[in-house]
Amino acid sequence: MRRPRHLSLALTVWVIIAASMTPALAQPQQVRPGPALSAAKPEPRPVVPRPIPKPAIPPLPPPRPSEPAAPSSDAGAPQVPAVDAAALAACLKDLDARGGEATPVKLPDEASDAIADCAIPGPVRFARVRLPDGSAVTLDSPVTVRCTLALELADWIRDDLSAIATRHGAALAKLAGVGGHACRMRNNQTDAPISEHASGNAFDLRAVKLADGRVIELAHADAATKAVREEVRESACARFSTVLGPGADSSHVDHLHVDMRQRRGGFRLCQWTVE
Ligand SMILES: [Zn+2]
Repeated sequence: MRRPRHLSLALTVWVIIAASMTPALAQPQQVRPGPALSAAKPEPRPVVPRPIPKPAIPPLPPPRPSEPAAPSSDAGAPQVPAVDAAALAACLKDLDARGGEATPVKLPDEASDAIADCAIPGPVRFARVRLPDGSAVTLDSPVTVRCTLALELADWIRDDLSAIATRHGAALAKLAGVGGHACRMRNNQTDAPISEHASGNAFDLRAVKLADGRVIELAHADAATKAVREEVRESACARFSTVLGPGADSSHVDHLHVDMRQRRGGFRLCQWTVE
């Protein structure tokens, strides 16, 4: 059987084209040896230990919100601890045992309406202190204060002021120009923080009167009474957290102010220049 001529020609052309397009197949490829390959056996690659992957560190939790700062006792309203009936009864019993004479009182509603923070924990009306010898030191008018302040005042009057008076020649008879609760801002300034007087935690005193008739004005510069006033100052600053007198500011040029304000870090103020 003969193939047709044109079919043989087409087959021949195809073979020529295929041979020209695939030289690799048609001819063996010559590979030139490179210098590296011409060396003897290649050195084995040093084995580098793979680092052990560390376990994934879980993401840290978001930081806790910082604790709210403790309210500064120098700003805003004073801290007024709650006092229940049992605590007040215990305080009154203590007060009586230490010679203090006071009666519980209920504040009039208008006081707490005027300024929201004008509330006294365990308010008492404090009037007198009995001394161990049977005499008494009387306030020229009773003051309304919190019972815990009345306790401290009773101790101050009996243990400190009375002893100072005795050292200077006469018994202590009376405290004059006293002040206690007052529902107002500090130094009577409307833009100031509320006063310790508003919560019954402060006491004002202008003079002490002795049994021999002497009147010692605490804020008056007077050489004759300076030694007494220096001792009063020392005793007040040792006992109360705040003592303000002449030299402190314009509001305390004519009397002595003491209070039991609690400040951060136990900070105390003793500002009274005795002249
Ligand atoms: Zn005062």
